[in-house]
Amino acid sequence: MPALLAELIDALDTGRLRIVDLTQPLGPDTPVIGLPPQFASSPGMSIEVISRYDQNGPAWYWNTIRLGEHTGTHFDAPVHWITGKDLPDNACDTIPPRRFVGPACVIDVSAEVAKKPDFLLMPEHVAAWEGQHGRIPRGAWVLLRTGWSKRTSAREFLNVQGDGPHSPGFHKSTSELLARERDVTGVGVETVGTDAGQAGRFDPPFPNHATMHGAGKFGLASLRNLDQLPATGAVVIAAPLKIVNGSGSPLRVLAIVPARRPGSATRGVESLPLFTSLSPSRCYRLPRSSRCRWHRSSPWAPSGW
Ligand code: MN
Repeated sequence: MPALLAELIDALDTGRLRIVDLTQPLGPDTPVIGLPPQFASSPGMSIEVISRYDQNGPAWYWNTIRLGEHTGTHFDAPVHWITGKDLPDNACDTIPPRRFVGPACVIDVSAEVAKKPDFLLMPEHVAAWEGQHGRIPRGAWVLLRTGWSKRTSAREFLNVQGDGPHSPGFHKSTSELLARERDVTGVGVETVGTDAGQAGRFDPPFPNHATMHGAGKFGLASLRNLDQLPATGAVVIAAPLKIVNGSGSPLRVLAIVPARRPGSATRGVESLPLFTSLSPSRCYRLPRSSRCRWHRSSPWAPSGW
């Protein structure tokens, strides 16, 4: 084995590097995004036993699964969005595998989101983060740490109110910055999708999807354990199933993380004071004219929407 790979294995064996699982459990209780009623919705996951050491298969256990491509912790390929439909190598089976592996940049906005679920990451937040941690490198996975994965009930996680879901995301200008000026691999979030809960009303609707996938970038949704990652220094491996012409897929997302040195802090070094100094006037406002009606369209959505 080449020395470089032998060192990797040794570092994992000795704990100098560790694997952090950024994946949510996947099952029939996994929440699925709800859409306005004029659109088709994605089914949740169902599992049917083929055999379980019984007359249908005396020595083996296996299941049939059925689910939407975008269920639970999942990958968004560029072909998922109309803006990326004609790009080369834009589907799960054609994306070059090198692109699934990249350095992680973790932007912690959990304090802001605790105060404001509709928080949108602005370019100023990226600038503040880069002021502390350095420029986001080309090919990075930019992971938005919001604390949202701590919401363990479907009701809290989807957070659907009378006017639709409320959850954090990216302002369009931030998606443009990351895709075009930083040339990232993609963005990852703790929420059910890579756009904010109210983004169906933005202009364009779902601007992070439109921008990222139009630029050939990827998305990761429903991540967890981002609080176990340093702001920089981890490597993320996020490879979707090789579904032919797949628009996305559930996947296991792994991070390789350096062991914390005794006494070193991974908390308390984030740029939260800088963030809170930003002017509220820069926050994005929704045009009233673009409002649409939301409706109960998922078994996990609370009634009355
Ligand atoms: Mn998706």
